[in-house]
Amino acid sequence: MFVITHFSVPFFSYYVSNRYLKTHESNKSLFVNSCFVGLAGLIPDFTDIHISLTARQNSFSHTIWSPALVLILSTIAVLLIKRIPKAFIFWLPFAVLIHLFLDGISGGIKIFYPSHILVGKYFISPLWWGVSDACFLSLLYVTYKKTFNKYPHKAEDYN
Ligand SMILES: [Zn+2]
Repeated sequence: MFVITHFSVPFFSYYVSNRYLKTHESNKSLFVNSCFVGLAGLIPDFTDIHISLTARQNSFSHTIWSPALVLILSTIAVLLIKRIPKAFIFWLPFAVLIHLFLDGISGGIKIFYPSHILVGKYFISPLWWGVSDACFLSLLYVTYKKTFNKYPHKAEDYN
């Protein structure tokens, strides 16, 4: 999968579930926190940038150790910085797990490093990756417009 899909799936997982649970006091904070969760979904690709499938399958960042490391780091960050939502202890490693799942169904990964057993295969052809990105990009644009332009004359939207 490409970058937009890796960002969007955790973004909308967080966004929709928290909107449903009404956990944020404003749409802006919900959108911003969703962006952080979306960015966490990019960690495996940005900590080990690759182009080929073979490089991805041999990447340490695409193993089960990656979400485990993010779990430890997000727990430390939440304990040290009070402004970070406690839910990020779950959501940041979960975003990385979503990334691994998406790569697992689009070519496979060797998740149980140092074992080289390949998990997954091409359930989703690379031909559909661009379509997926285009759809999610449109959805992100609509969500952004709805969040920041719904009440353009209210001061709280600009604070
Ligand atoms: Zn990846």
